[in-house]
Amino acid sequence: MTTLLISRCLLGVPCRYDGQSKPVELGMLELVASNCAMELDFVDICPESDGGLTAPRAPSEIEPGASGEDVLNGGALVRDKAGVDRTEAFVRGAQLACAKAREKSTRFALLKAKSPSCGVHAIYDGTFSGRLTCGRGVAAAALQAMGVQCFDETELGALAALLQTEALNTANADGKADSL
Ligand code: SF4
Repeated sequence: MTTLLISRCLLGVPCRYDGQSKPVELGMLELVASNCAMELDFVDICPESDGGLTAPRAPSEIEPGASGEDVLNGGALVRDKAGVDRTEAFVRGAQLACAKAREKSTRFALLKAKSPSCGVHAIYDGTFSGRLTCGRGVAAAALQAMGVQCFDETELGALAALLQTEALNTANADGKADSL
C-alpha cells in the first residue's frame, strides 16, 4: 500500500478560506496505480481547518520576506487580512499533517499550490496584493523537513512518474527477495 497525503480542497471539500474547493482530476494517478497493481491510499489533510480555523475565513499570508520554515522556527508570523495573528493555528495544522504522515508512513504529498499552508514552490508575498514570491507554506515546509516529497497540482505528471518508479522498484525488490 502506498499512501499519498493530499490537500483536502483538491478532493472537492469546501475548506478554503473562501468556503470553496479546488477539485483536481486524479485519473492520471489512479491509472498509474492500476497499471502498476499499486494500492494507492489518499490521506486528506487541511492544515488550516485541522489547526482550528473555520471556512470561510479571512485569507492569511506569511509575513513579507518569510517562508513556511521561518514560521516553524519562530522567526515569522502568519496574519490574516485584518492583521490577526494566526500563527498558532498554522503551526498546529502543520504538526497534525506531519503526525498523519508519520502514522501512515507517507513519503509523498499532493498539495494545493500557492497556499500559505500547502504551497510547495510559491506563496503570496504577505502584502495581500496578489503578488507571489518563492517560498513554501507552513505545512509544506514541515512535511518536506521530515522527508515527505511534496508536489502541487501543476505537477501531477511528475508525481505519476515517481509513483510508477516506486511501484517498479517495489516489484523488483519483491522479485529479488522471492528468488533468494
Ligand atoms: Fe486547501 Fe491546504 Fe488551504 Fe486546506 S490549508 S484549504 S488543504 S490549501
